Amino acid sequence: MTEKHRAIGIKPEQYPLVGETLLHAVKDVLGDTATEEVLGAWKKAYNEIAKAFIDIEQKLYQETEQLPGGWRGYRSFHVDQKVKESNLITSFYLKPEDGKPIASYQAGQYLTLKAEIKGEAYTHIRHYSLSDAPGKDDYRISVKREDAHGDAPAGIVSSYFT
Ligand SMILES: Cc1cc2nc3c(=O)[nH]c(=O)nc-3n(C[C@H](O)[C@H](O)[C@H](O)COP(=O)(O)OP(=O)(O)OC[C@H]3O[C@@H](n4cnc5c(N)ncnc54)[C@H](O)[C@@H]3O)c2cc1C
Repeated sequence: MTEKHRAIGIKPEQYPLVGETLLHAVKDVLGDTATEEVLGAWKKAYNEIAKAFIDIEQKLYQETEQLPGGWRGYRSFHVDQKVKESNLITSFYLKPEDGKPIASYQAGQYLTLKAEIKGEAYTHIRHYSLSDAPGKDDYRISVKREDAHGDAPAGIVSSYFT
């Protein structure tokens, strides 16, 4: 779970809101049995778990930041090259805007992209696997366009990219 939290950049200050919402849900589901004592116990348990997560996640963030070429949070990249691999798949070569080195990676690792698309009410966060060998001055991702099918609409981010 902490790895997933790292992937989407969960911050310590976001935990209280989740805790508050969780308590509302517990109260809603338990109804009259949600006494002050019961809710207090849930609150205590949540705070303990949240603290454990926050501590582990801080270590993970530090670990990534301290890698050569590493960073914390989101970093701006531009598309240096776009290659159409097939009718459905397009590769993007991404270079950092700051021109500084980028962290190396292992097979199976992925990037998290934040897409702010004109006309979309929300920011969309998606993961894309690194599809090239490490040790270069760019990252490559290969995005498969999710077309509309049946009643299902086209994928928001993959359609935007490709
Ligand atoms: C670790 C990881 C690595 C990944 N690596 C890659 C990668 O290398 N390349 C890649 O292409 N993808 C990769 N993905 C998947 C990628 O993150 C996105 O999920 C994918 O691109 C779809 O996003 P989207 O915004 O286009 O689709 P979304 O808008 O999220 O939609 C997803 C699907 O849901 C369907 N859908 C949406 N709304 C409805 C509805 N109301 N009713 C029925 N169906 C609906 C859409 O038709 C679509 O098929 C990876 C995912 C993970 C978790």
